[in-house]
Amino acid sequence: MPELPEIESLRREQAEHALNRRIAGVDLRDPERLRGARPDDLTAALSGFHFDSVTRHGKILFLGVSSGWKLAIHFGMNGHIALYGEGGAEPEHTRLVLDFADGGRWAFADMRRLGWVELTDDIAAYLRSQEVGPDALTLDAGSFAKRVGGKRGAIKSALMDQATIAGIGNVYADEILFHAGIIPDRPAHDLDDPALNRLHGEMQAILREAADRGGFHGELPACWLYHRRGDTGHCPVCGHTLNTRQVGGRTSYLCPACQT
Ligand SMILES: [Zn+2]
Repeated sequence: MPELPEIESLRREQAEHALNRRIAGVDLRDPERLRGARPDDLTAALSGFHFDSVTRHGKILFLGVSSGWKLAIHFGMNGHIALYGEGGAEPEHTRLVLDFADGGRWAFADMRRLGWVELTDDIAAYLRSQEVGPDALTLDAGSFAKRVGGKRGAIKSALMDQATIAGIGNVYADEILFHAGIIPDRPAHDLDDPALNRLHGEMQAILREAADRGGFHGELPACWLYHRRGDTGHCPVCGHTLNTRQVGGRTSYLCPACQT
């Protein structure tokens, strides 16, 4: 499932390649992937216009359109955006295709059909309506401690709750907690200020480094827990056998020696 770093690297790619290209055609192949608007509304908002900005909040990407609308994109389990030239291969499971006037194409593909697109003219109001909290990369340490430290549940669940803090899913929550030396099912309100401060620092460092390296599709550092997921191998730091544990219904990987 794409998390903040994957969407951030997609944002950078869109900023470089998708802006200022006139949209000549809109082909919504799967109308259920559009929420809150009719297919005609989507065509009217996009056709003849171009993307003039791209921003990200948590796991949501917003493509600003020169018509004044913003196209909000939710990626679900495995949604992604592909850009390709005339005659280039369209990705499998494409749900929405935009034809650029220059001959290039933009496609939103989503195999599991858990993602969607939506139009909004006000990003802040949209985020409020979706109950999305502040972005994990821009939240300062003091606000992080207030929002996360007051939670009664497991710290991992607090990190993954998009209303508390936006952008983190199962994989990066484990990675951040591993680097911060905190076990995932420790109650959030148990953490003292130095622990919350350390966790905030690791959260932003991990998310930033992963985004810079292209996320799951790039090359994450060899010493990360990420590479040991699925095989319960040995801790990349101390060599202890890794454990798994269910936290909030999700399988969590941890090192019982490094994390307390
Ligand atoms: Zn360890």
